[in-house]
Amino acid sequence: MNLSKKTPKEQAPDSQIISAGRRKEWTGQIVNTPVWRASTHLFDSCDDLQSGVKSGGDNAFFYGRRGSPTQWSLADAITAMETGAHGTLLFPSGVAAINIALLAILKPGDVLLMSDNCYDPSRGFANGLLKRMSITTRFFDPLIGAGIEGLLCANTRAILLESPGSLTFEISDIPAICAVAKAHDITTLLDNTWATSYFYPAMEKGIDISIIAATKYIVGHSDVMMGSVTTHEKYWKRLRQTARQLGQVVSPDDAYLAARGLRTMGVRLKTHEKSALKIANWLNKRDDVKAVLHPALPSCPGHAIWKRDYKGSSGLFSFIINGSKERAAAIIDNLELFGIGFSWGGFESLALLVHPEHNRSATSWNEKNGVIRLQIGLEDCDDLISDLEQSLNRYKD
Ligand SMILES: *Cc1c(COP(=O)(O)O)cnc(C)c1O
Repeated sequence: MNLSKKTPKEQAPDSQIISAGRRKEWTGQIVNTPVWRASTHLFDSCDDLQSGVKSGGDNAFFYGRRGSPTQWSLADAITAMETGAHGTLLFPSGVAAINIALLAILKPGDVLLMSDNCYDPSRGFANGLLKRMSITTRFFDPLIGAGIEGLLCANTRAILLESPGSLTFEISDIPAICAVAKAHDITTLLDNTWATSYFYPAMEKGIDISIIAATKYIVGHSDVMMGSVTTHEKYWKRLRQTARQLGQVVSPDDAYLAARGLRTMGVRLKTHEKSALKIANWLNKRDDVKAVLHPALPSCPGHAIWKRDYKGSSGLFSFIINGSKERAAAIIDNLELFGIGFSWGGFESLALLVHPEHNRSATSWNEKNGVIRLQIGLEDCDDLISDLEQSLNRYKD
């Protein structure tokens, strides 16, 4: 007879995600943490205000720029999804989260190693502001693994990874790279937007700083921009201080929507996963499709590592057609159920023509006719397949 209750840490992610971040003093008797809109927080006395100033702590009333229970509750819920995490900082976009985490770690003269498949604005930040601050970025092959040791120099301070890359989907051997980084006291940061901590608890695999564009799967409804940075105690104060000095804050209304999205992220991800896999396998069998880039398909670079380390796959992948970029564009234009637009992770399907060759320097990308990237939403999967089928059949070369 089992009489022992599972602690939150022992619960499966699907259970944790339901109540993580909920505290009676924030929610009262209700299920969701309400929207605490505030710039001014009021204190009982001058002494009381002074002790608030001095504590400087987390989850403490002070002033709106340090958030209110709505933001604290969301941050705590995201922290709960990463083993060993001390805390989470929220940012007004995924780009702000990545770039400010880098700023917190790097100083002039440092060298940053960046995976060649990283998100284009991360590359832009490296070649822009970081360069102006005399921080050098060297790009590397996402499949380098333990070979990264050969790229280190005395000034290498940090490694930024994105696995899988959000256009080309290579999976990096993160445990191998982190082992090298740890041996040389180098900080590792991962853009974990595709898998999220739900499918890839990054800190368990050795990552120091786990970053998510919450705009995508956490929010899940295409209506809020947000980013999160989760880390252990070692980096916490430094990251928090940098974020505070740069005045980073998200609104309680946005935090409320993101928290509401997070509660259903598990079920959404499982549906995204199932449909995306079915569609990827269907595309893979067509002779007008040259290649499908999906980490769960054996043909994807790094697939064996995905199989070893990831608990699942999400709804974003790419494919390459036989034929011209005009044909690729016509196929996308003629889709009925797929919107044409940036971003992903919402409930609706999207299609985008992307050109990875413009975002590479350490490796080359030889498919110059464009890559079709699909975000598979929550529509009926067979409807999505027949939509793709009609458009692929209409534009045969
Ligand atoms: C969208 C995205 C980001 C940036 O998030 P924003 O909220 O749009 O700033 C970062 N990384 C990846 C992989 C993304 O897809």
